[in-house]
Amino acid sequence: MARRIAVIGAGAAGLMAAGRAAELGADVVLLEKMNEAGKKILVSGKSRCNITNAAPLDQFLSHYGRNGRFLMNAFHRFFRDELLELLARYGVNTQTERGGRIFPISSQASDVRDALLRYGTEYGVDVRYRSEVREIAVENGDVKGVQLANASRVSAGAVILATGGASWPDTGSTGQGYLMAQSLGHTIRPLRPALVPLTVTERSIAKALQGISLRNVRCTFWTENAKGKVRELRMPTPMPDTGEMLFTHFGVSGPLILTASGAVVETLRKGQPVTLSIDLKPGMSEEAVHNRLQREFEAHSHQRLRTLLQGWVPASLADVLADLSGLEDDRHVHRIRVEEREKIVALIKNFRWTISGSLPLAAGMVTAGGVALNEVDPVSFASRKVTGLYLVGEVLDLAADTGGFNLQAAFSSGYLAGSDAALARAGRQ
Ligand SMILES: Cc1cc2nc3c(=O)[nH]c(=O)nc-3n(C[C@H](O)[C@H](O)[C@H](O)COP(=O)(O)OP(=O)(O)OC[C@H]3O[C@@H](n4cnc5c(N)ncnc54)[C@H](O)[C@@H]3O)c2cc1C
Repeated sequence: MARRIAVIGAGAAGLMAAGRAAELGADVVLLEKMNEAGKKILVSGKSRCNITNAAPLDQFLSHYGRNGRFLMNAFHRFFRDELLELLARYGVNTQTERGGRIFPISSQASDVRDALLRYGTEYGVDVRYRSEVREIAVENGDVKGVQLANASRVSAGAVILATGGASWPDTGSTGQGYLMAQSLGHTIRPLRPALVPLTVTERSIAKALQGISLRNVRCTFWTENAKGKVRELRMPTPMPDTGEMLFTHFGVSGPLILTASGAVVETLRKGQPVTLSIDLKPGMSEEAVHNRLQREFEAHSHQRLRTLLQGWVPASLADVLADLSGLEDDRHVHRIRVEEREKIVALIKNFRWTISGSLPLAAGMVTAGGVALNEVDPVSFASRKVTGLYLVGEVLDLAADTGGFNLQAAFSSGYLAGSDAALARAGRQ
């Protein structure tokens, strides 16, 4: 009888693992609980699917923070070029955009999903939808198959667990994989949202600014240790010097905020406070802001502060800054004293917010935490606890910045697990 591999989850990692194992001649059954494959691929990159990134390898790895080293081996075997070549074989040609982000030329995430499905079906993968796996069957430390929610059983000599994280559960990733891995003796590092919008204590101010998107601002996060010593929050992954952010009715979001959110959530989890300082004019020193304000106050002496600030920032932000300065009654700017001007400079250069938390796990673009990496072989993605079990994609304790890094990790880990399962399982059922 042909050796059989069961892959749990038809997301980025599972589709790749199934295709690769079948390409090497394995009998592969791909079990997906939803009624279609790759629902998360379909929403990725605003439905354009940011497949990977053009950054050189060392820079690429830095986007995974501390755990990036784990992927080094995998990326030496199957990385961006191999991925793009494979996708091109199935009709997906790509283009590189700002920040090295690589997208399909068609701008259709569905093209990526369909290409991966074709890869599998061409080699005979048996794709079964509405097939929710409840349990991985193991006897004497050896995988025997899987148990489905409908009580049927699929026997297999190897199981590739590709169930994703616990974010965006409507796409099917509801965190069941963590429970399955844990029940087999794997350690699950604490789950937390990453690439997630942050909430602030100053809700009413955020609400007044809701929908405003700011470009070319600098965001700096600060924390305080138990002794009250304030320090800038160190980011595990590179943070752009300036970029884009936006206000929401509950707080802050946008690329700069999402990039920092993993470290912020982690710091709050340790019970340390976090504040955000927004520099609205990072290209100008405090002194330059001061001098320009002075010149404008003189040139437009009968203007009100909020009107004058509209030359600096969007109108509703100008209103909020004028209110927060506490200087605007019915005064015209010529009556604002020099020392009072300092308050306005501080708001422009150091617009402060207290971070109270984040949106929940379900709202994060990725789930940080997951299966402990020291329990997984970094070349084959085989479990070090159970023979015949593989763990790939977001179920692992890996989370990266936006930019195509999360999908590349899913694709690379899936490919290598598929290869190893097919070769190592030769001769087994
Ligand atoms: C809105 C959004 C946009 C994103 N954009 C990008 C982007 O542009 N670039 C990027 O690199 N990353 C992006 N990401 C992150 C990236 O999509 C994920 O990290 C990646 O898809 C993870 O792949 P995976 O295969 O591990 O898991 P998933 O893609 O989540 O797939 C897991 C699959 O397993 C199935 N499943 C779960 N449990 C079971 C079970 N018990 N039985 C059977 N099947 C099961 C699920 O239904 C699902 O199909 C984005 C994420 C979100 C939410």
